Amino acid sequence: MLHMSIKAPVPAATSTAGRHPSALLRARGAVDHRAEALWRTAPFLAGLSLCCALVALWSLVGRVPAPLLGGWGVLVVAVNAAMLRARRRAADPTASGPARSGWRPIAEAAGHAALWSTLPAAVFAGQPAATQALLGAAMGTMMAGAFLLAIVPLAATAWVLAIAIAFVWALHAQGGETLASGIVLLSVFSAVVIAGCLTIERLLARQVGVAHDERERGEAIGLLLREYEEQGAGWLWQTDAHHQLTYVSPRICDRLGRSTAQLLGHSLPVLLGCDAKLGQALAARVPFAGVELPIAAAMGECWMSLSASPIFGVGGEFEGFRGLGSDVTEVRRAQDRIRRVALMDDLTGLPNRQQVRGLVTEAIAYAERRGSRAALLFADLDGFKAVNDRFGHAAGDAALRAVAERLARVAGTQGQVGRLGGDEFAIVMAQCDSREMAEALGHRLIKAVAEPVDFGSGALQVGLSIGCVFAPTDGGSVDELLVKADIALYQAKSRGRGRLTLFDKTMQRDAEERVLLERDLRQALARDQLKIEYQPVIDVETQAIVGFEALIRWAHPERGLVPPAIFVPIAEECGLIAGIGEWVIRTACTDAASWPGSIFVSVNVSRVQLELPGLPSVVGEALVATRLQPARLELEVTENVFQGESAGPLDVLRRLRALGVGIALDDFGSGYSSLGYLNRTIFHTLKLDGSFVRDAAHKSETLAVIRAIVALAKTFRMDVTAEGIESFEDFARMKDLGCKRVQGYLFGRPAPRAQATALLLPADTRAAE
Ligand code: C2E
Ligand code: MG
Ligand code: MG
Repeated sequence: MLHMSIKAPVPAATSTAGRHPSALLRARGAVDHRAEALWRTAPFLAGLSLCCALVALWSLVGRVPAPLLGGWGVLVVAVNAAMLRARRRAADPTASGPARSGWRPIAEAAGHAALWSTLPAAVFAGQPAATQALLGAAMGTMMAGAFLLAIVPLAATAWVLAIAIAFVWALHAQGGETLASGIVLLSVFSAVVIAGCLTIERLLARQVGVAHDERERGEAIGLLLREYEEQGAGWLWQTDAHHQLTYVSPRICDRLGRSTAQLLGHSLPVLLGCDAKLGQALAARVPFAGVELPIAAAMGECWMSLSASPIFGVGGEFEGFRGLGSDVTEVRRAQDRIRRVALMDDLTGLPNRQQVRGLVTEAIAYAERRGSRAALLFADLDGFKAVNDRFGHAAGDAALRAVAERLARVAGTQGQVGRLGGDEFAIVMAQCDSREMAEALGHRLIKAVAEPVDFGSGALQVGLSIGCVFAPTDGGSVDELLVKADIALYQAKSRGRGRLTLFDKTMQRDAEERVLLERDLRQALARDQLKIEYQPVIDVETQAIVGFEALIRWAHPERGLVPPAIFVPIAEECGLIAGIGEWVIRTACTDAASWPGSIFVSVNVSRVQLELPGLPSVVGEALVATRLQPARLELEVTENVFQGESAGPLDVLRRLRALGVGIALDDFGSGYSSLGYLNRTIFHTLKLDGSFVRDAAHKSETLAVIRAIVALAKTFRMDVTAEGIESFEDFARMKDLGCKRVQGYLFGRPAPRAQATALLLPADTRAAE
């Protein structure tokens, strides 16, 4: 049977502090305890009493009348018999009344000692020295018998005093010189015996107190453990030094579907599935707690939590473990549910960012272990913002769900799909044998997402751009891979949407370069590093300047002149374009106001600027502040204002047009130009891209296209400006094709305001200057 005497190391001070041990003895039913102690010592006291009586009788035979001796002997036997009887009754726990009275042992001790000493003391005087010596020794030995009564110090004191008084009486009767020294000796002896008894009693009391505390604590713990075992809270177990079960609560047998016999004598770690954590804990022979392990039970797998302490024998030898176990299956299930919810994206049911990080970590480790390659595809939807803006968030959510479902379906077993947030997804390919494999999957994903998405009240289309990295070649940590995949994704987006781009090192250099440029650009405006140059626009017929195009320049203190094609996209991405664009509009209007009234200025405006709130008010305020006629301001936008589903930019252009400002469609022919764009009543000018114009020199089909564009533009009452005119041939060709205006190095490169203004002065004035 298991002995659960688990000892809590509670110091005795917690219960006995501040209390006299004797008081404790009395307070805790110690009267019973003393009665028991007196009963145990009673035979010895009786033996001592009878032996000493025999010595006394033997020394007095023939010197004292026989009847007296006989009577005394009988009396001593009777007294001892009475004492034994009384002690036994007092020790009986069922007895009550006078038998268990606290004063009774004192009275008994006093009576016993007094009766015993009467004869030796009465006949002492006048006896020969040898007899007196024997009588004295017998009485002294009797006095020492007080130690057998030490548990009741008053009884011991009464015992000692009764014999001492009798001894003094005997010495007194004898008379002579021995009286004084005898009394002194007796007093000292009595005092020593009494003090000794008191000391013994105190030590005993303390011992009893501690034992009592431990018994109480042991009982309480025993009760709790029984309840723990019976109430279903857990189960108890014990092993021997070889970790074989020597005890196990019956409850766990039911749970495991095995009988006690099938468990006892078997190795605990083997029974519990050779769990490494448990094995280590047992081998270490140190206490352990909360070791959770799965166990195959009759009702399916369950989880147990084990805690235990090693048991050591008195010699310090290891005897096994004793511990508790509890069924934590429900707790584990709840924790699993919580963990799953915490790692799952609510909207799509895919792994969320946190779990994706975990998947990437596992994929890296797997690739490193096998010496293979893993891939991370970082995907972002193209044109998703427009879906939200135009159709609302419910449609946006439906689109995200549909995309998630398609990605997961197409990825299949090749990759695990997760949502990083917003319209960003990740596909983790733990095993990617070749770059081609990742590319092939990426292209299938792009194709699948490009299919129109039905969102209940209609269908919409989004695209997918993907940046791809490989582990361990591109990076060995999650963060490194995510950053590089993001860089590759950025490249994919900037090269045109719906693409997949694999990361390479030059991209990272570019990205770092961008970060540095962005940092410097933030201070460029305040440090007056931005300038505007003006390029003349020429009327084909008169070959006179009719306007200027304002082109921004950044004079970087270390890099020199940074072209707008480099820094304008950065300004757009980091949100600086709003401030820069406003500054360009105001400056261009101010400069144009100083030119003759027939000269216009055109300002380039990017799609991002059109998406910002307040462009019309910025333009309106600039016109009012500079008193420039709206018709003298032209805003140039590129055809990307038509990209995406959002109608916002076109609405803004209509509002600007309503102010009286001219709108030009810039760089026509450089991208996927569609003649359908012309059929909008927004533009009053069409600017043919320079590359397109130069192509016309050697491509007859380009020439034909330009002719058609010019003809169509005329039907929409639009003027056509040809850009990038570098040679007279270009000029003549464009003139023949019917372009109304031209612009290019042939007529003037972009130049600072002063030089541009000088071009407007009459030729003779210019020469004079
Ligand atoms: P863009 O609006 O098409 O401007 C014409 C570009 O062609 C200018 O380049 C100009 O210097 C260049 N160019 C003019 N004539 C010739 C020629 O005969 N041959 C050649 N090869 N090039 C010629 P730039 O100044 O580098 O500007 C590039 C682009 O940056 C502009 O193209 C415009 O889209 C953008 N940009 C310039 N300034 C601004 C601005 O203030 N705001 C915004 N949002 N974009 C601007
Ligand atoms: Mg332009
Ligand atoms: Mg242009």
